[in-house]
Amino acid sequence: MLDLKSMAARHDATRDAFLAAAGEAGFTLAFHPHPQAGPTGGVIGTHVASAGPSDAEELVCITSGLHGIEGYLGSELQTRLLREGVLAPLLQDRRVVLVHAVNPFGFAWHRRVNEDNIDLNRNFIDFEKPLPVNEGYEAFKEILNPKVWNDAHVAELEAAAREAGQRLGPFQLFKAVSGGQYAYPGGMQYGGSGPAWSRRTIERIWAEAMQGRARAVHLDLHTGLGRRGEGLLMTYGAESQSRIQRARRMWGDIALSPPADDPSILSTGTMGPHLEGMFPAAEVLSVTLEFGTLPGEKVSRSMAADNWLHQFGDFASAQGMQIKRDILDAFYVDAPDFREMVWTRTRDVVAAI
Ligand SMILES: [Zn+2]
Repeated sequence: MLDLKSMAARHDATRDAFLAAAGEAGFTLAFHPHPQAGPTGGVIGTHVASAGPSDAEELVCITSGLHGIEGYLGSELQTRLLREGVLAPLLQDRRVVLVHAVNPFGFAWHRRVNEDNIDLNRNFIDFEKPLPVNEGYEAFKEILNPKVWNDAHVAELEAAAREAGQRLGPFQLFKAVSGGQYAYPGGMQYGGSGPAWSRRTIERIWAEAMQGRARAVHLDLHTGLGRRGEGLLMTYGAESQSRIQRARRMWGDIALSPPADDPSILSTGTMGPHLEGMFPAAEVLSVTLEFGTLPGEKVSRSMAADNWLHQFGDFASAQGMQIKRDILDAFYVDAPDFREMVWTRTRDVVAAI
């Protein structure tokens, strides 16, 4: 049975394995402490490991845990990249920066969102402009955010999801439910009302790492979407762009979404295009590597249950701890074949940079 102590112990062990591997591989470490504490009061934060020539023209940056709980797999992959020497050839002429737990609160508390219930991959919008409106979300906000969480509600939610999937199709359903909303702070897929701590922190880390660089490749590790163990490499853009042509030379199988300013995009406020936009004169390619875990309805259910728990539930109750167990299982598959598949894919993606 999971409890607060074992949650904190797992968080600490995962982080410490990364820090030890980074130290042994000769990386320099920096720490950005988060203002809040972990489940048993421990200090949490974002760690940055850097190596390679400080005057290199090109940066290679690998980030984990933007969606906190997805950091358990992301951290393990970063650690293994360090331990198995995959990064060593890059260090000859490139600066390599690993950012561990972009969302340390979600990582420590087994949440995909941050301390303010924000999905950080919806937070990178221009808050000076009018907030995006997600009209499709209105129809789902009650069923996604119930006052009571029990088996009857789960059955109702699953029936509604099936009906909506048939009526709207997968893309419109994703856009409505997962595309981001800025009207309900307690609701799922909330994008925030201003730049979150994690956004401000990664902007600082990125600005410092990019100083004086002409080119960069940024790889952001995620889990929870797609087929079990498969790693889908994705970015935004059009084939005509030179950054996409470069991506194609490295990885033939990268999937393209429409450019970030295209009205047909499925999600608003994602991190990659924002980091690219911070350095318009440099050639920056930000890609996401997303590993499938469990079937989509189980992943979505675990997120809805966790959202309920943090608003209305008792975190330390048996139900609360079961929800924490379920959400970890939804974003980290603890099986040898899965871990080998995701490792092989990550190694090959990084070796091709
Ligand atoms: Zn994610």
